[in-house]
Amino acid sequence: MLSLYIILMIKIQNCHNLTQQIELLKSQAKSIGFVPTMGALHEGHISLITQAKDENDVVVVSIFVNPTQFNNAEDLKKYPRVIEQDTKLLTNCKVDFVFIPSESEIYPQDYVRPTIDLGALDQVMEGKFRPGHFMGVVEVVKRLFGIVQPHNAYFGQKDFQQVAVIKKMTEFFQLPIQIIACPIIRSEKGLALSSRNMRLNDSEKEQALTIFQTLQFAKQHVKEHDPQTLQAMCFEKLTKSGLQVEYVEIVNPKTLNTLKNTWRNGAVCCIAAFCGNVRLIDNMVIN
Ligand code: AMP
Repeated sequence: MLSLYIILMIKIQNCHNLTQQIELLKSQAKSIGFVPTMGALHEGHISLITQAKDENDVVVVSIFVNPTQFNNAEDLKKYPRVIEQDTKLLTNCKVDFVFIPSESEIYPQDYVRPTIDLGALDQVMEGKFRPGHFMGVVEVVKRLFGIVQPHNAYFGQKDFQQVAVIKKMTEFFQLPIQIIACPIIRSEKGLALSSRNMRLNDSEKEQALTIFQTLQFAKQHVKEHDPQTLQAMCFEKLTKSGLQVEYVEIVNPKTLNTLKNTWRNGAVCCIAAFCGNVRLIDNMVIN
């Protein structure tokens, strides 16, 4: 007899339920891949999910807009929330579990904040311009890791500094989880995909392309200038286009220290700029 099995995505809101299901699967020697997100899913998220599906037996995606990582109340309020659309997309991607917790599930009354000194990682770029952001990221990712207990967790290189922070946090707390960094997915014209792009109008989308063009410019001219000169040229290019630049940094990929006079292999150019009132970040390995 021919049987037809339809495997449906399981939607879970309760931490304990999810942990129980995962523990059962792990007892059956299934490998667990985890993709944490804040929703408003796009091809960038899908690329992480596709890689997680290729490399694991079971894939869990979480959707949680974490208030503790927003240092700007307006940004948190305006963060896009399209849960029904996301759920459909994840069903089509054949994700096994989607975890959509409430704030009180993630931060119950007896919740204890993790303490970790992120050192220099928290002092530069995103850390400097978004005080408290990375402690919020550590808080939520550590909590989610505790609930899901995955073997592998997938993060986008789009948030380059975040990947460095998560790796440090995983090492510090000795979590048996492999952190996998996935490439940046861009629009055809080069704009790094982001949930915040939804808030850009057409002319802002064109203007935002300068960020990608500046990164390409930096890559093309890496042999002609020292890092500090190239950084200044990039800053000017962005400012001239009308973007409000927060920072342009050319950094050592391991320490995130600013490169000044000498190049280092794998140097990354990182940009944060406001396009209208939407804050965008992007980066590229330029050396
Ligand atoms: P978010 O929902 O913005 O918190 O992002 C969830 C994950 O998707 C993070 O690990 C991001 O780095 C990753 N991500 C977001 N945009 C992209 C992109 N354009 N390409 C690759 N990964 C991305």
